[in-house]
Amino acid sequence: MNHWIDIAYMLSAGAFIFGIKQLSSPDTARRGNMLSASGMLLAIIVTLLNKGILDFQWIVVGVVAGTVIGALAARLVAMTSMPEMVALFNGSGGLASLLVAWEAHRRSPSPEVFQNATVLISVFIGALTFTGSLIAWGKLSGKLPGRPFLFPGQKPLNLVLILAVVGLTVAFCAGGGANLTFFHIVLGVALLLGVLTTIPIGGADMPVIIALLNSYSGLAACATGFVLRNNVLVVTGSLVGASGIILTQIMCKAMNRSLGNVLFSGFGSASTSKKQDKIEGEVKPISVEDTFILLEAARSVAVVPGYGMAVAQAQHAVHELGQILEANGAQVQYAIHPVAGRMPGHMNVLLAEANVPYEQLVEMEAINPVMETVDVCLIIGANDIVNPAAAEDPSSPIHGMPIIEAHKARTVIVMKRSMASGFAGIDNALFFRENSRMLFGDARQTLQGLVAEFKG
Ligand code: NDP
Repeated sequence: MNHWIDIAYMLSAGAFIFGIKQLSSPDTARRGNMLSASGMLLAIIVTLLNKGILDFQWIVVGVVAGTVIGALAARLVAMTSMPEMVALFNGSGGLASLLVAWEAHRRSPSPEVFQNATVLISVFIGALTFTGSLIAWGKLSGKLPGRPFLFPGQKPLNLVLILAVVGLTVAFCAGGGANLTFFHIVLGVALLLGVLTTIPIGGADMPVIIALLNSYSGLAACATGFVLRNNVLVVTGSLVGASGIILTQIMCKAMNRSLGNVLFSGFGSASTSKKQDKIEGEVKPISVEDTFILLEAARSVAVVPGYGMAVAQAQHAVHELGQILEANGAQVQYAIHPVAGRMPGHMNVLLAEANVPYEQLVEMEAINPVMETVDVCLIIGANDIVNPAAAEDPSSPIHGMPIIEAHKARTVIVMKRSMASGFAGIDNALFFRENSRMLFGDARQTLQGLVAEFKG
């Protein structure tokens, strides 16, 4: 019997690994998702049946209830709220690991040092992930203020708490896991640390923290896997832990900031925001009709989507306009910045949903060297990721962040509703440039207006 269980676990682990691999391309991502989900279903059923934890009927009830909740969440949650949903998923993962490790210790306490250490590691990371994710969810959804919350002595306090956890863990293990007071204090401190380490991080950096918390939730699951001696949980937890930290690194690199800077600098708080240089130049609005004339004559068009495209749900209209421009003889490319939008791959997902061919998506490094040859750069609800201050103004809070160099195109059309700033809360010199025109309005309506102009 054990043989079969191990084989089933190997199959699930294989499904996770190949599923994640397939997620790296939009062409195969759906299949990858299904493959990983099937691996998870297999792992759940085999584990519950094997341990005799639940009767078959209850497994079916659980799977049906989970499927209904998951399907409803996936259908009802707006694309723009996806990071919040991921925050809640991470928090649930952390809570689940914490509860399972707790119950495992309650049911079968063991004097073994390794066993007790993994119990406390699981409880510590799980609890920290749980409260940290709730704070992240609150900040992202606007239920809590998004600005960093800093107070004197914050970092030393966190350090003291972490040292206390290390000391208590050693004492707990040395005492053969019998002293539950130590256990409860570690649990309480971990819940508090989740809050204390997330509140100093500004709303703008929350997606990075979501990726980091995702990694933590994986590590908590991995530790629980050791508690339960369950190989598939160790494998899954490690995969989530490693992929979460890789994603965190990618996002930090795309913003040209270190993880330490994201975690501890309080980016966006009053004390860290520097005074920006005054922007010179004049804002030149343009009408849909005049934009149509420019686009009709353009031989090469670069579309730069940003968060506003997600808000306006303009991806289908973007693709329709793109097809019309191509039929009109223009070369159309979609320039994707790695942190455009509010989560990694945000723009890729939306454009894939609208069936924009993957080959037309170009990365920042590929489009920048040829930007000077682009006739019209069409910016759709993007702001920070095309802000030239990142390259030119050392006093800018986003100085050093790589950008799509839209300002180098022959003409730049910026679609947004107002002169409001983007996520980083700073003005954008691009809007005042000689070659820039502002096409004000909701991106979807504006794009539909342009499509209507082309259709005559
Ligand atoms: P920004 O948030 O900088 O700008 C979005 C712009 O869209 C706004 O200026 C807004 O202007 C406009 N907009 C909003 N709604 C609409 C609408 N209905 N129609 C037209 N325009 C609209 O987005 P970017 O994508 O340029 O930059 C992303 C930011 O998020 C960066 O600062 C990045 O560092 C940050 N970030 C992203 C992460 C990720 O994983 N993607 C991770 C961490 C941070 P207006 O209100 O005038 O319409």
